[in-house]
Amino acid sequence: MRTLKFKNHDEMPAIGLGTWKSGKGEVGNAVKIALNNGYRHIDCAATYGNEAEIGEAFTEVFSEGKIKREEVWITSKLWNDAHKKEDVIPALKETLKDLQLDYLDLYLIHWPVAFKRGVGFPEKDDDYLSLEEAPIIETWNMMIEAKKQGLVKHIGVSNFSSMKLEELMEQTKDIPEMNQVELHPYLQQDDLLEFCSKQGIHLTAYSPLGSGDRIDAMKAPDEPSLLENKVIQKIAKKHGASPGQVLIKWSVLRGTAVIPKSTNEGRIIENIQSMGVNLDDDDLKEIASLDRHFRYVTGEFFVTKGNSYENIFDEDDYKA
Ligand code: NDP
Repeated sequence: MRTLKFKNHDEMPAIGLGTWKSGKGEVGNAVKIALNNGYRHIDCAATYGNEAEIGEAFTEVFSEGKIKREEVWITSKLWNDAHKKEDVIPALKETLKDLQLDYLDLYLIHWPVAFKRGVGFPEKDDDYLSLEEAPIIETWNMMIEAKKQGLVKHIGVSNFSSMKLEELMEQTKDIPEMNQVELHPYLQQDDLLEFCSKQGIHLTAYSPLGSGDRIDAMKAPDEPSLLENKVIQKIAKKHGASPGQVLIKWSVLRGTAVIPKSTNEGRIIENIQSMGVNLDDDDLKEIASLDRHFRYVTGEFFVTKGNSYENIFDEDDYKA
């Protein structure tokens, strides 16, 4: 397995298992299947509402003794309602308790947007905290503190545009080690990739297969699914691979981590076997031409109280 290397020589396996929308009663099984079939990287988040079941699966697998805790890279994310400095460590401890772990390998600020404590998903303007009420640097300083306390090994962010990253980096010398963002052939984000690579910030590609359903179906009902894209299907056929494998290997070849979600045994195994697919220069050129700045996870509900599309998604990058 290819890995992403960190300054302290820790290595994150490039392919991990995503767990968003993996339902109760199926996510634990998916994690066990993944770990027993070679995955050593699991992506979690408090807001997915399934960390307790994932924690049971971890304990079961680790207690069997074949796979040790320290062999698995486990990521989780701080939800938007715990950005206040006094809320960060308690939220992290809740996640650790649910996941039945002593530490995380990576903890991310899920979005550069803050809600009032207890707001799972905002319904009105008043559910948000403004940038002044919850300055991101205060949240970030508590992430640094969590690392100092040994609760997490690495810290980073998610859904940060280069503009948001720059704002944060101007205020701290401990810059994020990771930015987890939507990345796939319809949203290639070359500028963000270059920016992060210059700063030494790794990227993780989320929704690499198009997120399964049309989150934005109302807006773009005719948008073809990534997995059904003719170019992707042609390349898959050429290599005797599946379209999903082509999309995953494409992410790996760009030097990012990638976290396809599945709860289906066959597809979980198929996805990690993407490493064996060899894409050539012609394939990469054809895939490069598919970029259309299209987001499945638009985040438009976060545009309020000082946040605009321009600063959440770099201006020239966002297309509704
Ligand atoms: P993905 O792009 O990973 O797509 C998942 C969908 O594809 C599911 O419907 C799954 O169905 C299906 N699928 C999986 N493998 C295959 C395959 N080989 N062939 C065909 N279909 C397949 O979507 P996600 O949006 O879930 O993104 C992946 C992960 O990224 C998330 O689970 C989460 O961990 C993370 N994420 C992070 C975000 C953030 O804000 N930081 C936002 C969004 C995602 P089935 O389960 O039936 O196989």
